[in-house]
Amino acid sequence: MNQPVAKTLHFKPHERNIFFHLLTACNLACCHCYINPEQHGSRTLPEATIASWLKLFAEPGKRTNLILLGGEPTLHPALPSIIRTARGLGYHSITVDTNGFLHHDLLHRIEPHEAVLSFSLDGPTPEVNDPLRGEGVFATCTANLARAVALGFEVSVIYTVSARNLHHLAAMPTLLKGLGVSHFFIQVIGLRGKSAAASEGGGPGFQLTPAQWLAVVPQVAAEAARQGLHVIFPKVFLDPDEPFACAGKVAENFFIFPNGRVYRCPLCEDYPLHTYQIEDACLRPREGLTETDLFSLDIPEGCVMNKLLQPGSIEYTAEGRPRHRISCCLLKQEAIKQG
Ligand code: SF4
Ligand code: SF4
Repeated sequence: MNQPVAKTLHFKPHERNIFFHLLTACNLACCHCYINPEQHGSRTLPEATIASWLKLFAEPGKRTNLILLGGEPTLHPALPSIIRTARGLGYHSITVDTNGFLHHDLLHRIEPHEAVLSFSLDGPTPEVNDPLRGEGVFATCTANLARAVALGFEVSVIYTVSARNLHHLAAMPTLLKGLGVSHFFIQVIGLRGKSAAASEGGGPGFQLTPAQWLAVVPQVAAEAARQGLHVIFPKVFLDPDEPFACAGKVAENFFIFPNGRVYRCPLCEDYPLHTYQIEDACLRPREGLTETDLFSLDIPEGCVMNKLLQPGSIEYTAEGRPRHRISCCLLKQEAIKQG
């Protein structure tokens, strides 16, 4: 049997991804939550506003994927109708990223072909997951995930790897296979929201060193693929001969927040650097310094925002050259079972 090989998913010029935060409210209070109401707002967008903003980003001539987020998007009582509006506008795929509580009986208000459900789980047991995401969350999330699979939904799981759960990642593939999950997204903890505050406060941090990441994640991804899961995980460190590309320059990703801010780069979301502002149902480019000005800076370390936000993550040779270039945080690798 061939061993799974991870390949880099280079940015595709005609693929668009719209990450739409419908609200910032949530029933949980995860330790590493990246939502920052000061920067993202705290309103729940009315359904009519969501419909008009969805129209702004719909381009039926292009393959546009829509990811509905919060907060917890299933808290929005109009979510089923929002999903249908998006389908009517020609969005290619629709994914709901949920913490697993599936409020307002979502499973019985949409059909399995209407949306993919992506559940967040940060540990293979309650003992690992619940200190990060809340007491009882593992049990609720896995029970609802199993119900979704039984009803015929396509289900994926997102695991946010941090120093708190890195060594439990290896137990995830077996759990997910048993639950009937098809796709496994491994993501690295960001330096945003509460995880950034924890690092600054000098408490037990969440951040990983390059050595920790490289020692665990690629191997677990390969094992998950061997077990039949379709695995997507961030590239993080570029190979010496691999070109650097900033998604802000070569891809079409839009991160929309309830206060009307629209970013092109998720690492910028804690700062008022957004490229666009939605005003009066129009998408207006902002004047002054924005993230777009940073995308064109060409530095040997790779990603400019990573260098600005976590310079300590870059190691240098005695000659002062970076040992690794950091890839765009949106650059992913894919591992699938061969043959
Ligand atoms: S479920 Fe998501 S939005 Fe809610 S607290 Fe956790 S990380 Fe934040
Ligand atoms: S993460 Fe870095 S490389 Fe990617 S879009 Fe942002 S600034 Fe560009």
